[in-house]
Amino acid sequence: MKISIIGSGYVGMVTGTCFAELGNVVTFLDIDTQKIAAINAAKSPIYELGLEEMLARNRSRIAATTDYNEAIHTTDITFLCVGTPCDDEGAIDLKYIRAASADLGRALRSKEERHTVIVKSTVLPGTTEQVVGPILEETSNTRAFGDFGLGSNPEFLREGVAVRDFMNPDRIVFGTGDEKTRAVLEELYATFSCPKLATSIKTAEMIKYTSNAFLATKISFANEIGNLCKHLGIDTGEVFAGVGLDARINPAFFRSGIGFGGSCFPKDVKALIAHAQSAGEAVDLLRSVIKVNDQQPLKTIHLLKKHIPDLRGATIGILGLAFKPDTDDIRESRAMPIIGALLAEGARIIAYDPLAETATKAIFPTIGYADSPDDALKVDAIIIATEWKEFEYLDYSGRIVIDGRNIERAKKEAAVYEGVCW
Ligand code: NAD
Repeated sequence: MKISIIGSGYVGMVTGTCFAELGNVVTFLDIDTQKIAAINAAKSPIYELGLEEMLARNRSRIAATTDYNEAIHTTDITFLCVGTPCDDEGAIDLKYIRAASADLGRALRSKEERHTVIVKSTVLPGTTEQVVGPILEETSNTRAFGDFGLGSNPEFLREGVAVRDFMNPDRIVFGTGDEKTRAVLEELYATFSCPKLATSIKTAEMIKYTSNAFLATKISFANEIGNLCKHLGIDTGEVFAGVGLDARINPAFFRSGIGFGGSCFPKDVKALIAHAQSAGEAVDLLRSVIKVNDQQPLKTIHLLKKHIPDLRGATIGILGLAFKPDTDDIRESRAMPIIGALLAEGARIIAYDPLAETATKAIFPTIGYADSPDDALKVDAIIIATEWKEFEYLDYSGRIVIDGRNIERAKKEAAVYEGVCW
């Protein structure tokens, strides 16, 4: 199939490149000209394991442009993959969805063949039919479900292992309102052998939010129990290993630490809370999930002050800035509130991350950055904020370590060791 991808970020790049790997012809579109130039030079604008090699391998089937007419007129199906951030109140901000839909609709106006538009961005139930559809109809002067196909195909990939997740999904959800769109999606995903769930559009949208809200809840629950275990002198890891073996529960995402970050869980849970509030539902459980997650990274400061009560002038090493290992993404990374709190206490900071230094410099330009992890150890105390594999191989002997991510070597070697929940 000929596929266009609107929004060439984490989801767009992985989706488009994997579809090219499966033999499709893919046109990426973005408003960011640097990203488009990078893709046309077979360089991925974002880091994901194996992505750049895949992009180079499929170069002959991949193009990138900023021109909507070019992208829409040369393809049969478009995936909307633009960002859906939340505003200051936590409500979903649809400005990118609206702008991309309007440009897409204007390009559709002069296209004669039937086109299919699929929303892959995470949007609240009702958005595809009540926001995207009407904008497309108005700007293209054609009708959804008749003149053009419209549907939802939420994405469940995890950054860091996104290519593997896309190619080996647990399930694929097709939210459609017409047979032709469903047939297009079934054909596109025909080679995938996982369960495929065909639903209404708003059910598909809700499956994505429910999935993220549940996983976020599991993490905040593990952290709340972990905090209690630390007080009671119980090994949190053993508790969750034991509980996770229950087939009804599952061990994944069941570890204590300093909380969840990234571009999805925090904003999606907040957007669902705001949406529920406007629908008159209280969602107290989800509010608590966010509250626990906001407090959890600051536990590291509390533990640090047990050993260095006055942080003014102290130099603190931060190991890890990315919200999780194997990504350069720092959105909602738990390291950020830790750095903010340390600066407020008057501490000096030396931070290290193998991929996320550049992104962090845009937020904290004046803190120190170490060229190697060893340099971030030559400080008064260390806080481990991301579980990069390489942190398992550092020499922590003689150091004060506050560990937010359960790094075994630090636990064994540090002169003073405090795990956040263990
Ligand atoms: P991102 O910020 O990495 O990428 C979005 C891209 O859209 C950017 O390159 C931006 O320049 C581009 N863009 C913005 N407005 C545009 C427009 N009008 N026309 C064309 N391009 C435009 O975002 P992301 O992490 O890829 O997330 C995209 C969506 O997928 C979000 O809704 C997110 O919630 C969802 N999602 C993300 C993940 C993840 O792990 N990142 C996983 C599943 C779902």
